[in-house]
Parts: sequence; C-alpha cells; structure tokens
Amino acid sequence: MPSTSPRQAPGFQRFHLGSLPVTALYDGFVPILAEDLHGEPQSDIRQRLADAYLPQEGDLHTAVIGFLVEHDGRRILVDTGSGSTLGPYTGHLLDGLMAAGVKPTDIDDILITHLHPDHCGGLVTSDGEPVYPRAVVHVARAEVEYWLDEERTERAEGVQKQIHEAAAFSLDPYQSAGRLDAFDTLDALPGVRVLDQHGHTAGHSGYLFGEADEQVLFWGDTVHSHTVQLPCPHVSIAIDSDEVLAVEAREKVLNHVAANGWWVAAAHLPFPGLGHLRRAGEGYAWAPVHFKPLVLPE
Ligand SMILES: [Zn+2]
Repeated sequence: MPSTSPRQAPGFQRFHLGSLPVTALYDGFVPILAEDLHGEPQSDIRQRLADAYLPQEGDLHTAVIGFLVEHDGRRILVDTGSGSTLGPYTGHLLDGLMAAGVKPTDIDDILITHLHPDHCGGLVTSDGEPVYPRAVVHVARAEVEYWLDEERTERAEGVQKQIHEAAAFSLDPYQSAGRLDAFDTLDALPGVRVLDQHGHTAGHSGYLFGEADEQVLFWGDTVHSHTVQLPCPHVSIAIDSDEVLAVEAREKVLNHVAANGWWVAAAHLPFPGLGHLRRAGEGYAWAPVHFKPLVLPE
C-alpha cells in the first residue's frame, strides 16, 4: 500500500461576513492545561471537558487563527500566527495566506491584538527578517510599552521573559524601518474601531469592522477554551497578565457581542473561528459560521 503523507494542506477559508471579505488563516494549535483554568472547581472544569470529549489530563489543544480582511481598498492582517516561536505545530499562517493567492508584499497593514508570540511571532522569519516588507504594524501603545519595557524584561522570568523577548524580536525590524504604529487611537485606519480589552495583557485590543448589523469583531484572546469559558465567562487562564481584569473584559465583550449580534472572528475557537454568540443560561453558546457559496471573481 502506498504510504500517505502525514502533512496537512495549508488552511484557509474565505467568507463574506455581511459585506466584509474575511479569510480565516490556520496557523496551527497550542496546548493549554485544565489546571491553568481558574475560577471554578477543577472537578467541574474537568467534567465540562469530558462532556466535550476532550482530555481532562495533559494538553488540551486550542487552534491558532489569524485573519485577512479586505477593507477600504487595503489588505489587512489581524494577527500573524506564531512564526518560528512555538515549534512545528504552529507557524503555518503564511502557507495559508500564500495558498489563498496573497503574497506578503500584498499586505498593507497588520493589526496585532496583543504581543503574545502566537499572535506576533509570524511578523518575522527565524533570523529576524520582516515577513511583510510593506506593511505597517499597528499595536496599542500600552501593549508595546509593557512588553518592550527593558526593566520589566530584565526582571521577568520563565515564560514571561520569553514573551518579552519574542515581542521585541518580532517588532524590531518594523520599528527600525518606521513601520510600527504604537497607537493611542487607531487614526491610520478609518472605519476600524478599537475595543480596549486590557486584562489578558496590558493593551489587549479587539478590532471592530463594519456597520449596523453587519459588524465583525476580531477579539484576539477573549476566549481560550470555549468549552469552559463560554458557559463560565468568569473562568480565567494562568497566562492572563491580570486574571481579574481579564474576566471583567471578557464579561463585557461577550455581553456586547451577544446583545448586538456581531460576528466574531476568534483566534482560539475551532477553525475557522468565525460565528456568533447567543446567551445560554448564565453564559453563552457559540453559533459557528455556516459554509455558503461564495461568488468568486472572474
Ligand atoms: Zn493567543
């Protein structure tokens, strides 16, 4: 019998969410641990995982997804995946982008939700060359100031130190070339609203596109484990910079999204990470996007 290649195909899917063309780009998956989820008894958290046929011990996997948005004549990436920072199960976003027919030189702007390596690691190659030679990188000033602070980097240990170093490494060539926009308000991209979601990190930002009932929120890391944190939005995760503020931000954002019927583009929900939220009991349920015919250009 011929052997079958264990390789996966590059992952991308295109949708129109309202009038906004969005391409979901699959970067890979990262591990999370049940014991890193805080705010409910571990037995209850593990029962929710078991009910979803997920392992209660060891690594749970959560997808890493970035998005290409076509808005106002510009090609905008929202997050860049992990690049070479997190090992072989991640770092595939660029393959997905190329498979979708888009070259790195086509990208005009990059919106970074926050500077964890699964979101900004894909800005550079393993030797620090910029992957996107024309793009301007937009990140909230609070986020840049936190992770690039030299004293804080010096004091940090373990995973936190790695995050500081990866953030500096990823931003460096863009900053040197004058293509880093550390924004207070995102004036450079009219029609894109920033939602301050600080808590998970100091400048964790959501980006809201569109109008009226056709709005799409790219919410970054509002949810890491949809199995646990949608029914229990008060559950935090150890990687949150401030677990109390992260819960406050999540509760506010989930409430807005469900009340307004916004589309969500989520970094860590099952691929393609697009859908709606509806209220369910004390929490929320995920209504994933349905595939539909897409009219392709001639
Ligand atoms: Zn993340």
